[in-house]
Amino acid sequence: MSTVRKIPMRKCVGCGEMKSKKEMMRVLKTAEDTIILDTTGRKNGRGAYLCFSGECLEKAMKNKGLERSLKTPVPREVYESLKKEFEKFEQS
Ligand SMILES: [Zn+2]
Repeated sequence: MSTVRKIPMRKCVGCGEMKSKKEMMRVLKTAEDTIILDTTGRKNGRGAYLCFSGECLEKAMKNKGLERSLKTPVPREVYESLKKEFEKFEQS
């Protein structure tokens, strides 16, 4: 018997591509309404997924995909700090 293992796929709010969770970055809105980068993937809250790419973050900012997905306005400062986090990941 062979079963097809289903990999949970998530949609990038920037480019709209479907990828497995492991290949993506999770942006989370916490119960306190703060928006953070969930590097562990274990925190509770409403999450949005993005590729490990600054480009996708840019896109998500322009098309408001992140705001739509988190159902909250995302202030400019939040994008700025997310961008810094992304840069760290991209360099390593
Ligand atoms: Zn993407």
